[in-house]
Amino acid sequence: MGSCLDLRKYQDADAVESAFAKIVSGKSGYKPVIERRIDPVKCDKCGKLIEGTEKFCPDCGNPIKRKPTSTKCKKCNNFYNDEDTFCSECGTKRE
Ligand SMILES: [Zn+2]
Ligand SMILES: [Zn+2]
Repeated sequence: MGSCLDLRKYQDADAVESAFAKIVSGKSGYKPVIERRIDPVKCDKCGKLIEGTEKFCPDCGNPIKRKPTSTKCKKCNNFYNDEDTFCSECGTKRE
């Protein structure tokens, strides 16, 4: 046992998140509400909802296309946050 747990530890986001959770809740493994990083996508072949980071549909093997989670500002190369409409650095409208 433990091999998949170990892997998870070394994924940046998860490591940060569980460290954060440790501070907030005093216990590790608790998932705080900052969880909304990956939007579920639907397999366009069979319609299965993919909620993880799968690159291929587990049901039909169709490659899953994802929208890039963060886009860069054309003007200053700042990364937009998911919900940003305007660049927080230079005010350029996101496309
Ligand atoms: Zn599928
Ligand atoms: Zn910008």
